[in-house]
Amino acid sequence: MATKRDYYEVLGLKRDASDDDIKRAFKRLAIKYHPDRNKEADAGEKFREINEAYQVLSDPQKRAAYDSGGFDAVENQGGPGFDPFGGNGADFADIFESIFGGGGFGGFGGGGQRQRRTGPVPQRGRDMRVYIDMTLEQAVKGLTKEIKLSSLRTCPECHGEGTKDPKSRKECPYCHGSGVTVAQNGIFRVQRTCDHCHGEGFIVTDPCKKCNGTGRTKQTRTIKITIPPGLDSGQYVTVAGEGESGIHGGPNGDLMAVVRVAEHKLFKRDGNNLYCEVPISFATAALGGKVTVPTLDGKLALTIEPGTQTGTTYRLNGKGVPSPLPNRPRGHLYCTVIVETPVNLTDYQKDLLHKLEQSLDGDSEKDEAKDSKSSSSSKSKANSQKPMMQRFADNVADFFKNLGK
Ligand SMILES: [Zn+2]
Ligand SMILES: [Zn+2]
Repeated sequence: MATKRDYYEVLGLKRDASDDDIKRAFKRLAIKYHPDRNKEADAGEKFREINEAYQVLSDPQKRAAYDSGGFDAVENQGGPGFDPFGGNGADFADIFESIFGGGGFGGFGGGGQRQRRTGPVPQRGRDMRVYIDMTLEQAVKGLTKEIKLSSLRTCPECHGEGTKDPKSRKECPYCHGSGVTVAQNGIFRVQRTCDHCHGEGFIVTDPCKKCNGTGRTKQTRTIKITIPPGLDSGQYVTVAGEGESGIHGGPNGDLMAVVRVAEHKLFKRDGNNLYCEVPISFATAALGGKVTVPTLDGKLALTIEPGTQTGTTYRLNGKGVPSPLPNRPRGHLYCTVIVETPVNLTDYQKDLLHKLEQSLDGDSEKDEAKDSKSSSSSKSKANSQKPMMQRFADNVADFFKNLGK
């Protein structure tokens, strides 16, 4: 006998491989080297080798015999159902069915489709997808829109039959209606999709002129789509049955209308919450006051506390986006205050600011003049008017103190 490769090596496995490993390896290699798919000259030989290795390693008794005694032990063991060379009854379809399950193993012409068909097999039409572009305002309120969609729909001439004369549909004479042909490929029986009827199991001698017998034509339709309030980019609405039409009476596919919300000039959205930056003047920040902020329900007066720092965020409850889910509260609107530093000052304004600055620092100067020893306490009094600068100064002092250690 010619030299044979170790069964584990054939399947690319270690000797302690589990049953699942063996099954997986065989499945992968069988698909790769199946002569139906792989046209290389040695594919058939490789496939036979894989098949043989699998038959031994997948049977606990034969595997044990092979592990202890090699090829000879297995061959001497013999036994019913074991035939490494597939001479009597090792049928691909049977092996595939046992491994991949009876359900259609499409690429191989279907181990599970060997029973005779009686007529066309209904197929569901494919789903389709469209994008609906909208503004944030539209997304919040919801939107009804008509779109033009071009897709394969049931042929109006033959109503999807593929022919106007039902009598012109005949059982395929090559596969006798099964949709598959069986060929003897060396020692193996190989099933393949019938070339003549393309697996349909029947042929039409007088096909519909409009759809060339396919039963569907490209048609452009207008479809009304309703997007409920609150959807965000990437969320979608399914319009049942508005995808491609089914084949041979199969159901239609669905249409997915995917929402795309444009960026907004004022609001950023995160879930159902909205975020907005509100610039306020230097004076309003210091003295407090009211500023007008935009909301989805109109303008709103927001009260700014005296001494508000830049970055302070106010939450306006329930002024966000409504939830698309029932009985869920609306989101909130978060307004973050940005204090705007004045620019292009006149000399007079600059003078005023210098005076303001001096008066803010002035207390400490006066105190120092009175009693230089109390400068530390007076400094902190001046800085109590500047909480952020105070915090920064404290942190800087700590930093250098720790650095010196
Ligand atoms: Zn037609
Ligand atoms: Zn056929």
